[in-house]
Amino acid sequence: MPERAPTPERGIVRVAIDRPLRTAFDYQPPVGLAAAAVPAGVRVRVPVGGSRTVGVVIGHAERSDLPAGRLKPIEAILDERPLFDPPALELLRWAAGYYHHPIGEVVAAALPRALRAGAPLEVCAEFLLCLAAGVAARAAGEPRRAPRQRALLERIADQAGGVSAEALSLESPDWRAAGRALIERGWARLETRPVARGAAASEATAPATHTTGAPPPPAPPTLTPEQTVAVAAINAATGFAAFVLQGATGSGKTEVYLRAVEQQLALGRRALLLVPEIGLTPQLLARFRERFAQPIAVLHSALGDTERLAAWREAHAGRAAILIGTRSAVFAPLPALGLIIVDEEHDSSFKQQEGGCRYSARDLAVLRARHAQVAVVLGSATPSFETLRNLEAGRYQRLTLPRRANQAAAPQLALIDLRAHPPRDGLAAPVLRAIERHLGTGGQALVYINRRGYAPTLLCTSCGWIAPCHACDARLTVHHGAARLRCHYCGADEPLPQRCPRCGYAVKPVGQGTERIEATLAGLFPAERLVRLDRDTARRPGELEQVMQAVLSGAARILVGTQMVTKGHHFPDVTLVAVLNADQGLFSTDFRAAERLAQTIIQVAGRAGRDARAGEVLIQTEYPDHPLLQSLLAGGYESFAASGLAERAAAHWPPFGRLALLRASATRPAAAFEFLEAARQAAGRPRDVRLLGPVAATMARRAGRHHAQLLVECPGRAPLQHFLAGWVVALDALPAARRVRWALDVDPLDTQ
Ligand code: ADP
Ligand code: ZN
Ligand code: ZN
Repeated sequence: MPERAPTPERGIVRVAIDRPLRTAFDYQPPVGLAAAAVPAGVRVRVPVGGSRTVGVVIGHAERSDLPAGRLKPIEAILDERPLFDPPALELLRWAAGYYHHPIGEVVAAALPRALRAGAPLEVCAEFLLCLAAGVAARAAGEPRRAPRQRALLERIADQAGGVSAEALSLESPDWRAAGRALIERGWARLETRPVARGAAASEATAPATHTTGAPPPPAPPTLTPEQTVAVAAINAATGFAAFVLQGATGSGKTEVYLRAVEQQLALGRRALLLVPEIGLTPQLLARFRERFAQPIAVLHSALGDTERLAAWREAHAGRAAILIGTRSAVFAPLPALGLIIVDEEHDSSFKQQEGGCRYSARDLAVLRARHAQVAVVLGSATPSFETLRNLEAGRYQRLTLPRRANQAAAPQLALIDLRAHPPRDGLAAPVLRAIERHLGTGGQALVYINRRGYAPTLLCTSCGWIAPCHACDARLTVHHGAARLRCHYCGADEPLPQRCPRCGYAVKPVGQGTERIEATLAGLFPAERLVRLDRDTARRPGELEQVMQAVLSGAARILVGTQMVTKGHHFPDVTLVAVLNADQGLFSTDFRAAERLAQTIIQVAGRAGRDARAGEVLIQTEYPDHPLLQSLLAGGYESFAASGLAERAAAHWPPFGRLALLRASATRPAAAFEFLEAARQAAGRPRDVRLLGPVAATMARRAGRHHAQLLVECPGRAPLQHFLAGWVVALDALPAARRVRWALDVDPLDTQ
C-alpha cells in the first residue's frame, strides 16, 4: 500500500478528463491558490501522462489516495465562470454512475468540441494593435516603399484597443499580408480577446418572423377544454412533477407545449425541448419562432462544430430563452430552467445506442427536472411501456388530448391479407385500388415501407449468387438511381454490376425498398407527382423541406417513405396510409419489437385524415390473425399496450425487471466470446442477478468485427446497480478485455 499523501493544506481538486478511467483525476490547485479558488464546473489545463489536456473540475477533496509526490498542480484555470452549474454537474455525475461510464468521457461528450479543446467560453475576436514602435515608425514616415503597410499602420495607429480583423477585412479584404509585415517589423500585434456580450447573440438563432417587418403572426388558437386542462395542470405544478401528454398526432400537443413555455418565459424562466433525431423539423422550429420573440437556440447532431459552439454559448449565457435539441441537449446548460418537454418520448433516438455513454435522454430529462424542481412533460401518441408503467404506478400524471373536433374520427385500420391478394412488386391489388380511389376524391396517399433503397437483394437467377457485404453478415442493397450496391450496416459501397461476377449471367434485384415502390407507383400513376422521403432523399439540407412542401402544397399526391414519414409532420390532405411490410416486426426475437411495431403503425396511421376527411389505413400482412395485429385493430394502442405490459410483467422483462447488456466485438471470431466468458466467471454467483449467454449478436459480423453479448437480468434497479458497480471494475481488469471492444448498456433498447 502506498502511503497516503499528507493532507496538503490547500486541498485537492478533482478533475474529469476525457480518458477511459472510471474515476476523476486528483490535482493540486494552481501554485499560490487554494482548491476553493477553483470552482466546480470550470475548465482547467492539467498535465497528464507527459502531455497536457483540458478537464472540467467536478469537485474537491481534502486528501488524495495518490502519494503527494505524484500530485501535480493545475496549470491554468480557463474559465471565469463555471460551464456547468451544480445541478448540471450532478446530472453528469449521476449519468456516469448509473450507466457505469467514465465520468471524464461523459463530461466531454456534453461539451462542444471547441470547448473540449480549450476554446474560450466567450465569443472572441482578433484585433490588430499598434505597438509603441509602430507609433514611432509612423511618425518617422515609415515604411516608405510599402504603401499598403503604410496605410494599415495609419489605420490602426490611433486606435487604443486596436481594430478588429473583421472590420479590417471589410475595408480591405487582403489586409493580412500587410498586417503580417507590420507584425514582423515589431510594429503591431494580433490579439484575440472576448468581444462584448450580446454581440453574437444572433448566431444561433434566426430572427423571429415578426421582428423583420413581416405581417404579424396569426393569433394563437383558442384552446380546447382538454388543452386548457393540460396547460393549467402543467402551469400549476410547483416543484418537480412529471406529466404524460397523450394524444394522437394532430391533437394539439405542440400547442400545449407552446402555452406552457409561454408561461415560463413570462416568469423569466427558460425552457428545454427535446425532440427525436429527425423530429426537429423546420415546421416545428417555425412554429416556435413565430410564437416567441425571444431567442431560441437549437442543438442537433447535424450541426457543424461552430454552430454547435454558438448555440451552446447562447444557452449557457442565458441569452436563449428556449433550447430545442436532440438527445445530447439534455446536458446543455440553461440558467433558470423552468420546464422540460420531451416530444415523442417513445422515440428510440433518445437512447444513445452506439459509442460512448449509452444514456437515455428521456430518463435523464426526468431526473434533471427532479434536480431542478421543475415540471417535465413527456408527449406521445404512443407512450413507451416504461412511461405507461410509471403512470400506472402513480409516478407520472396523465393528460389526455382526444382527436380535435374538426378532425374526422380516428382513421379506420384494416388488414390486407397477402395470401388472398398476392402482391405485385410489393403492392397488393386492394391497396392500389384504394390509392386510386383516394386520389380520385382529392386526397393524398402515403405509402410506408421500412426499407430504403431499390431492393434489399441482388440475385443471379442462374447460379443463385447473392451480392454479399464482405465485412458483414448482410446482403448489399441495390440503389438503382445511384447505380450502387450499398451495405446499410457498414456503409460499404460498390458499383452495381450488370452481370453475375461468378457465372456471367444477368443479375436481378429482388424485393422492395422505397426507391422501387416509388418507381412502380410512378409507372402505375403516370399523371401524378410522387415524392420519396428517406435518408437517401433527405441527405442534403433543404431537401426534407422541399419534399414536405411538395406534399403540403398538394403538388405531390403520393408520398413514399420510411420511418421518416412517421415523425411530426402535418399533412392535412393525406387520407390514405398504406403500410407495406408490417410483418418484419412480428417475428423478431427482440422483446421490444412488438411495442415498436405497434408504435410505428399507430404513428404512421396518425398521418391519415388529419383534417376534415376521414382517413383509411391499410396494413399488408401475411399473418392477419397475429394476436398483435388483432389487438391493435380491435382496441388500439391502449389495449395492445395493456396486454403487452401484462406479458412483460409475467416474464419479468422491463419495465418490471431490469436489464443490462454487455456487448463485445473483436476481429478474431473467438475473442469476443472469450472476453464474455471471462466476464461471466468474474461475476461469480451474484444474488438476484441472472446472466444469460454469451451468445452471438443477431447479426454477428458487422464491419469486419464479430459481435457477441451477455445479458444481465435482475428484478430491481438497486440490486442491478449494486452488481454492475463491482462488475465493471472487475471487467476493466480482465486481460481478455484488452483484446476486444466492449461496452455496457444499462436499460438497453434492444437485446439483439
Ligand atoms: P400535435 O403536436 O399533437 O401533432 P399540434 O399542436 O401540432 O398537434 O396541432 C395540430 C394542428 O392543429 C396545428 O395546425 C395546430 O395549429 C392546430 N391546433 C392546435 N390546437 C388548436 C386549437 N385549440 N384550436 C384550433 N387549432 C388548433
Ligand atoms: Zn451467377
Ligand atoms: Zn457491411
